[in-house]
Amino acid sequence: MFSYRHGFHAGNHADVLKHTCLIAVLRHLTLKESALTVVDTHAGAGLYRLDSDLAQTAGEALDGIHKLLDWAGKPGKLKAPLAAALQDYIDLLGRFNHAGNLKIYPGSPFVTHHLLRLEERDRLRLFEMHPTDAKALAANIAQLGAQREISVARQDGFEGLKSLLPPPNRRALVLIDPSYEIKSDYAKVSACIQDALKRFPTGTYMVWYPIVPRQEAHDLPRKLRAAAQRAGRSWLHATLNIGHPETGVQAHLPGERQPGTGLSASGIVVINPPHTLQAQLAAALPQMLAAMARGAGKGFSLDAG
Ligand code: SAM
Repeated sequence: MFSYRHGFHAGNHADVLKHTCLIAVLRHLTLKESALTVVDTHAGAGLYRLDSDLAQTAGEALDGIHKLLDWAGKPGKLKAPLAAALQDYIDLLGRFNHAGNLKIYPGSPFVTHHLLRLEERDRLRLFEMHPTDAKALAANIAQLGAQREISVARQDGFEGLKSLLPPPNRRALVLIDPSYEIKSDYAKVSACIQDALKRFPTGTYMVWYPIVPRQEAHDLPRKLRAAAQRAGRSWLHATLNIGHPETGVQAHLPGERQPGTGLSASGIVVINPPHTLQAQLAAALPQMLAAMARGAGKGFSLDAG
């Protein structure tokens, strides 16, 4: 049923945008003493080997995190100090790898696990439906030995989220990061956010989406902003477009991978963002672009309301 495997895409420019943003949001939310629940509705396998056959077939990390690390490692290229959010992201990757050799890429469950205070109070709820990735995720999480604090369900994350809102402590971050392999995912994300804002209006919701020539993808950020506005909540919208490769091959859906090309652009909508996020991304986005841009169409945007 599912052909999308995040292992093909781990560490690409979309992961750089998403995980930098995720870390910045979590850093802020964990400043408060009170317990936080994080729900990751589309968790993936959790950890990825960048030297595996899966990752090397596409080589998307070469156009993503490897370019960022290369750029950040050459001080002459930096017109300003490295943005704090990017430094934080790079430092976190360093915790999973030895001597600056990037072999392991942590997906959202492990990025989140790294920042939560699980032993004391926080909770992590993971959903993943792909049979192989759900098994890999369960095995990766089992190694952490955190039985009560982290749950893994091979279940539809859109449905699973409903039973978790509102969380017992009334503080939550929800990451919604589907593969959009099925066109109906766009409508599901929109419906899921509207429902979640009714159940738990004060939660922080982070949605990733691909920027592809498809009406549903174009409409999604507008629908999410409208849902936030109707609920009287604040929002932030960031996009990053690394441009088309010089060969001029067009962007395509994540599930329709073409080696060496890949998706060119993606966006993040955050509802109830931390007040610090806009300034952090304003510093990080130009540097992400400087590091990873590869051709025509490149650019970024940042709006909030
Ligand atoms: N969030 C991960 C990260 O940042 O490391 C990447 C997730 S990947 C983009 C999307 C994942 O969602 C895939 O592993 C796919 O198998 C899974 N998936 C697709 N539909 C789902 C659903 N309805 N519920 C839960 N998982 C689903």
